[in-house]
Amino acid sequence: MSSRRKKIAASGAVVSALVASHGQATQADFGSKTDYAPSGVYLTPDNEQWTVWAVALEPVTAWNMGWHVGNTYGNTDLDPVWTYPGGNDCLSQPVDLCIYDAVQPVEFTWAGRTNCVGTLVGSDPNAECSKVRIIINLREGGAFLGNSSYNVCHELGHSIGLKHPYVSLQNGGPVSCVREFGFPSGGNLSMTSISVQEQGEINAHYK
Ligand SMILES: [Zn+2]
Repeated sequence: MSSRRKKIAASGAVVSALVASHGQATQADFGSKTDYAPSGVYLTPDNEQWTVWAVALEPVTAWNMGWHVGNTYGNTDLDPVWTYPGGNDCLSQPVDLCIYDAVQPVEFTWAGRTNCVGTLVGSDPNAECSKVRIIINLREGGAFLGNSSYNVCHELGHSIGLKHPYVSLQNGGPVSCVREFGFPSGGNLSMTSISVQEQGEINAHYK
């Protein structure tokens, strides 16, 4: 009996440690940062249903979107729902996310953009946006391949509230597609999923 009590106590301590560490990660790596679009515009909470409209995407972009919405993020507590109402007027429809891809002017060096195009309430890091837009840059020859698995995974992460990981790779931070591209942040094209920690952050928010 006494031995069993000890086991229970020990296992309780481990759970508390995990919760504490998760709490810190949530503060750093999840939430809104609306002054600079890419970091963590996120959806209204209390809504697991994630309605996504891909607007006439190129095949590679469409494939990567389908994969990451259905698997990378579909494996969280979010419940993805693709919608195809027809036409290109996504912004006026009752959806959570509109995804576009297009060749951007050469002076635009970004590979992707995520920003709020719906109703924005609250303030950072707890601002909530009713609708988000992702634009993937299909310009060729730049430092990024816009429709790569890495980049699509990255922008989708921002669209539901993931920020660039706060802790660097060198200091033991998570391997994640949401890590910024290149040195010193260390994000690269081989990073095509999110970390267990980020899954936990998403699950903690959308319930
Ligand atoms: Zn980013």
